Parts: sequence; structure tokens; C-alpha cells
Amino acid sequence: MYERLRSALAAAADDQIIFDLPGIEDQYDALVRELPGVAVRFAMKACAVDEVLACLARRGAGVDAASPNEIEQALLAGVPVTQIHYGNTVKSDLNIAAAYRLGVRDFATDSVEDVWAIAALAPGARVFCRVATSGDGALWRLSDKFGCSGADAVVVLTAARDAGLVPSGLSVHVGSQQMTAAAWRTAFEDLGAVLAALRERGIAVDHVNLGGGLPAAGCLDRSGRPLTAPMDEIFGAIRAGTRRLRDAAGGNLGFLIEPGRHLVADHGAIRAHVARLTRRELRSGERQHWLYLSCGKFNGLYETDQLGYRLEFPSHRGGALVAAVVAGPTCDSDDTFGSEHRVLVPGAVRSGDPVWVLSCGAYATSYLTQGFNGFDPLPYTTVRGELAAAGATP
Ligand SMILES: *Cc1c(COP(=O)(O)O)cnc(C)c1O
Repeated sequence: MYERLRSALAAAADDQIIFDLPGIEDQYDALVRELPGVAVRFAMKACAVDEVLACLARRGAGVDAASPNEIEQALLAGVPVTQIHYGNTVKSDLNIAAAYRLGVRDFATDSVEDVWAIAALAPGARVFCRVATSGDGALWRLSDKFGCSGADAVVVLTAARDAGLVPSGLSVHVGSQQMTAAAWRTAFEDLGAVLAALRERGIAVDHVNLGGGLPAAGCLDRSGRPLTAPMDEIFGAIRAGTRRLRDAAGGNLGFLIEPGRHLVADHGAIRAHVARLTRRELRSGERQHWLYLSCGKFNGLYETDQLGYRLEFPSHRGGALVAAVVAGPTCDSDDTFGSEHRVLVPGAVRSGDPVWVLSCGAYATSYLTQGFNGFDPLPYTTVRGELAAAGATP
């Protein structure tokens, strides 16, 4: 699955993150095949890279944007404004007015305060209310900050109608890198109950937004175990859930989904280098190997809070391995891949040797710092099919 990326990684002489655009396109096509009748809006915060947005837009994907700047970037990349919604429930008056000026007419909400602001600054807009989920089964729960109870969603959308807005839909987010199908089944049950309560109030929304949460296939957990999700069961639960909700609505219900990680994580990889492999005696008296890389939490691998990464050392195939703590280059002790975990790495690595970090295409460029400790933000490149075909596979 990584052949094209491997060729590009092998050809890269300096640190960079590489996005495999044909891989992302294939991933999008596969998702559309799995979920017929569900429109895809890429959660662009996962990879706000112009070339990625443009290739998805050419395939017909819309965008879930979270700020006026994201909206502008999506428009410039060629996403039609009618396929962009403001999916962040958190927005200031300035943000709402700017989005409205840019032409956006669909807004997420989860409170009456936000509804009143939208009514004042984006008159007549369509609003969809986010229903909170537990986030159980996900690596990142996204639970308390976003969404309201089902009962409150009825209050919020009723307030929207009374304020002259169009109560257009409901949304959920089951939590990022959601590993279970059960979370989806629960979400559909909750959505069904809220839709029924809305119908009792005479509010028939026209769509349900299923949010993000679809997992990536190639990630590891912090202890280095593969995070393998039951994708067939997850897609089956989504197909069954959408069918049930549509039937209950008499056939008049559309669906959106907002994948972020699922579309890009496995199709981005970092070419980094070894800073140094050391062996130190700690205060406890234990001797530990530490492998410091040129990239870490503040320049590409922010998600080490939950994830481990597959590492490859292309100049050290074979040879003796040592168990090391892997860490980034900065002076922050949080900048490690989990100091309680060991990764088997070649004992002979030297400073400067290339390291490939796989499955890190999601949330890598988005979370780059402006050179924390003076370590440059990683530049990115993209690989197209033609380039990879000409490149050498190591
Ligand atoms: C972050 C986010 C997403 C994407 O989440 P993934 O887990 O990366 O798929 C989708 N929708 C909203 C509203 C988000 O905030």
C-alpha cells in the first residue's frame, strides 16, 4: 500500500512530509463506493494542503471548514461554496459575518446563543445542530466541547426556526479514530430519536451529517500495536443506519459524512533523519537507549499523545536491533513517543541516517509549530502517479 510513498521517500534528500495524491484519490473513491448516497465533505483541518483539497474537489468532495480562513482556502482550491459548510460550533460574531460574506450558508450549531448570532449575522442561513456523543471507542473523544443533548437539539433547532433560520439538519461526531461499529449504532439510535422529536414539533430537517471518526488503517497505538478497526462492520452499520433514518423520514433525508483522518492518514509519510541513538543511565539506575529523531510532537507528529508510528530505517535493513525510547528533537519532555514504551530500532543507526515515518498524513501539517526550539516546520511535497512510476523502489 505504500509503494508510491516509499519511492518518493527514497528520493527525498531532506526532511519533508510527502502526500500521495493518487492514494488519497483512491481512498476517496473507495469510501464513495462503500457509502452510496452519502456526500463526502473533507474535514480540511486534517490536512489543509492546497493540492490535497484540489484533488478531492476535482473528484466532487466538498469541505467541512472551521474558520473563515479555511473557507477561503477551500474556495481557492476550487471547492464550490455550496459544498462548504461551517462545521465548527465555536465561532465569534466576526467569524460568522466573514463566512456569510464569503457565501457560506450552512452552519453547525449547538446552542441558542450561537443560533441568535447566526440569525443576526447570517440571516436566513441553514443551521444543523450537533448532537453530542460519548466518544466511547475512539482515540480522541471530542465529547464535552461539542454538541448538546438530543432534547436540547430540539430546543436549539426550534429557536433557529423562530429566529428565521432554516433548521436544516443534525450532526454527530463519534470521536476521532473510532475503532468500533457500536459507536455508530448508538449514534444512529440517538439521531433517530431526535429526528422523531423534531417531526413532532413540525420540523423536518433535510439532512444528517455523520461527521468524522472513520479510522485510518496503518496507525499504531502508543505501545506499537496495530490499530485494526472492523471496517466492514463499521460501513455496514453506517449503511443500515442511514437506511433506517431515511425510511423513518419517508425517504426525504440526505446524508453527509466528514472524514478527515480516514482520507489522508495512510497516504502521507515523513522523511526525517536520526539525530542520535544514545544509551544513558537514568537517576533510577536503569540504562536506557533513546533514539532522537529530527521530527516529533512539534514538527509533524503532534498526535504522539495517542498514536505510535511505523518507523523504517532504509539504510539499515537487517542487523541487530535495540529497544529504545523514541523522541523528538526539542527540549520538551512531552516530545516523546511515550517514554514508557520501547521501539525496536537498528543498533547501528548514525546521526543523519534517514528515517521514514508512515501513516502520518493526518493532522501533521495542521499541527506544525512555528519552529519550536528553532526546529523548522516540515515542508511538504506531493507525489503524483507519473513521478512515482519513474522513481526507484528500494
Ligand atoms: C475534526 C472533525 C472531523 C474529522 O474528524 P476525523 O476523525 O479526522 O475524521 C469531522 N467533523 C468535524 C466537525 C470535526 O471537527
